[in-house]
Amino acid sequence: MRFLQLPVRLKSGLGLLLGAACALLLSSCGAGRTGGVSKPSGDTHPVGGNKASAAPVVFADSLLLLGSLNLLASDALKGRDTGSEGLEKAADFLQTRLEAFGIQPYFETYRDTLSNTRETAFNIVGYLPGSDPGLSGEMVVLGAHYDHIGIVNMKNGDAIANGANDNASGTATLLEIARYFSQVRPPARSLVFAFFSAEERGLLGSAHLARKLRERDTRLYAMLNFEMTGVPMQGKTYLTYLTGYEKSNLAALCNQFGGEGLVGFLPAAGEYNLFQRSDNYSFYREFQVPAHTFSTFDFNNYPYYHDVADEASEMDYGHMARVVDRLIPAVRGVADSPAGTLKLN
Ligand SMILES: [Zn+2]
Repeated sequence: MRFLQLPVRLKSGLGLLLGAACALLLSSCGAGRTGGVSKPSGDTHPVGGNKASAAPVVFADSLLLLGSLNLLASDALKGRDTGSEGLEKAADFLQTRLEAFGIQPYFETYRDTLSNTRETAFNIVGYLPGSDPGLSGEMVVLGAHYDHIGIVNMKNGDAIANGANDNASGTATLLEIARYFSQVRPPARSLVFAFFSAEERGLLGSAHLARKLRERDTRLYAMLNFEMTGVPMQGKTYLTYLTGYEKSNLAALCNQFGGEGLVGFLPAAGEYNLFQRSDNYSFYREFQVPAHTFSTFDFNNYPYYHDVADEASEMDYGHMARVVDRLIPAVRGVADSPAGTLKLN
């Protein structure tokens, strides 16, 4: 998420640097808690039906989430600035994961080279064809930006903005959702998994992809973006909030499919106009369809925004796993829903 001017609330309480990068080499797709496919059987949404929330999904693997964060937010990737070697390594990692899941590239290759940046930069885009002959021609884009701001002013002997919460957390969240859908019956509509570059440069990666898809007359049904999902909010009756909450009925549908309290309304999201500050906005602008960001960063629960202390060790992996497991039935519900179910207000 990009704030040109840090909201006042964020200036106070900046913490000390914690070094904590122990990278777990990620080897398999099925390791960990219930990394297998034990729960897809609970996935009872009939194609096209909008049944109330399905049996809870227990799939996300906090060890894999930890491994992804430790790699993406490691000092070795030097804060993943656009055009940097660190971002290239992150792209390799994402591509390797999608290949391991058996998710095919959306274009000829996974790499979608941006047309609007000075440096060479690319989105990583995977694709899961839908299962319903009538609806599979429509896409649901699931997104997260994997770039960050790189090297910043030295502080306590550290100049690497590791970007754990922003947005290695959203990237790892999307990887786990992709891993799930690679192991179960695909939803009715097709899923596009888009890892954006150059978000910190002005939503450039998503702007490029949204324009490219529109020029190809892509039928976009919805865009769901994941941003800063690393730490839980305190004292809220909902697990995540949606930017642009009032712009469509997506929040209501997500709570219907994913269970009450999955998505709530955060007033500050409106105050800071977050709807226009992340990659969902590029798709809303090009397609005028429901396109929103899910987040758990509420300006009070994380003092390390764009800071050298935004480290993998600060993330709450139990929370991240809960977010993934609650989002999965919501994604399926939206992607399976009958035409016209999801709409702009
Ligand atoms: Zn961000």
